[in-house]
Amino acid sequence: MKQRSVPHLLLLPFPAQGHINPMLKLAELLSQAGFSITFLNTDHNHERLTASPRLRFQTISDGLPPDHPRSGPLLQDIFFSTQLVTKPLFRDLLLSFPQDLPVTGIIADGIMSFAIDVAQDLGIPIFIFRTFSACCLWAYRCIPKLIEAGDLPFEGHDDMDRPIKSVPGMETLLRRRDLPSICRLKDLENPVLQFFVYETFNIARASGLILNTFDDLEAPILSHIGPHFPQLYTIGPIHTLLKTRQGDTQPTDASNGSLWEEDRSCMAWLESRPFKSVLYVSFGSLVVVTRDELLEFWYGLVNSGKPFLWVVRQDLIAGNDGKGEIPAELEGGTKERGCMVGWAPQEEVLAHPAVGGFLTHSGWNSTLESIIAGVPMICWPQLADQQINSRFVSEVWRNGIDMKDR
Ligand code: UDP
Repeated sequence: MKQRSVPHLLLLPFPAQGHINPMLKLAELLSQAGFSITFLNTDHNHERLTASPRLRFQTISDGLPPDHPRSGPLLQDIFFSTQLVTKPLFRDLLLSFPQDLPVTGIIADGIMSFAIDVAQDLGIPIFIFRTFSACCLWAYRCIPKLIEAGDLPFEGHDDMDRPIKSVPGMETLLRRRDLPSICRLKDLENPVLQFFVYETFNIARASGLILNTFDDLEAPILSHIGPHFPQLYTIGPIHTLLKTRQGDTQPTDASNGSLWEEDRSCMAWLESRPFKSVLYVSFGSLVVVTRDELLEFWYGLVNSGKPFLWVVRQDLIAGNDGKGEIPAELEGGTKERGCMVGWAPQEEVLAHPAVGGFLTHSGWNSTLESIIAGVPMICWPQLADQQINSRFVSEVWRNGIDMKDR
């Protein structure tokens, strides 16, 4: 009898931390469900990510030169380099798999939709995994409506409290300042704005759309999205799904998905803190701050009199090119009440009983992780979906406060 071959899925994440984390979890889950998985990293990220024994890792160029910083605003260069350079390489790579291991399906990130062109050309079924919130996806989908209604473009930072009524389902919720950050671009021809609109419409061509969200959280918005993306699968929050399948712990040999080295010393520091006493502070993997902003937060945290655990990435300060230079005040003064690390095991930190609040940039993974851990948020959104996520946190889900633009 002929043996049934195991379906072989290739997963293609966008090469940034907030996209790799959920895609890697999806890869682990699918592997547990019996699929053979190839996880396609960029050459640049591959060295930084711990492998997982159940997944096959391959690499591809992100199209940028090795010395490109790939951080801060420059990360957006990848939107265009992947279209130009990675797309033809992706086609070659798919054709290069041996006959006994053909790629039988693809799951690509929601802003890597060039993969749809290649997959459909080669006759390979493709699904899209959009790692942002549904509320942001819907706002992007409504950008043509916003333009038609005269809500876009708007000048600079003028009249940011003006209500926005042209996003169905959010008519009484949004102000200019709550729209995804690309809506602050004055020029409608701006390539980044055009890129996100294109990607959002293009992903409807895939066989299905997977979202890292859940109906109890975003059902009203999902009902608006549904007719535009008929094969919609809400599988979030994906980090809990992996835990549930493992009886509350991840497989010990699973990759933690981190591109930075975790400093676990903060877990011991948390152990000696009282119940719900600590403010956890992290702005995710992409946000950069000015030196003045960093010091302002520092003084606020110290003067609050509360214990705090603060993630200060090496490349957190704008213009630093990842070279460090944390102001001396911070290095010296945290001993007593504060703990500073370059990168934390965030899911574990949020689940720790000593953590009572999260000062966050409102990235979607951080928001979901905080919701699941039951930790209230103080939101300081900066870019992408963060502005709309924080509005939902403060006004719809009511599990935090929004201090945007302050
Ligand atoms: N993260 C982490 N340690 C840190 C900071 C962040 O493990 O010190 C993880 C966090 O748990 C989340 C991801 O990095 O899964 C950040 O994704 P998010 O969507 O919140 O923000 P982004 O980095 O994309 O802006």
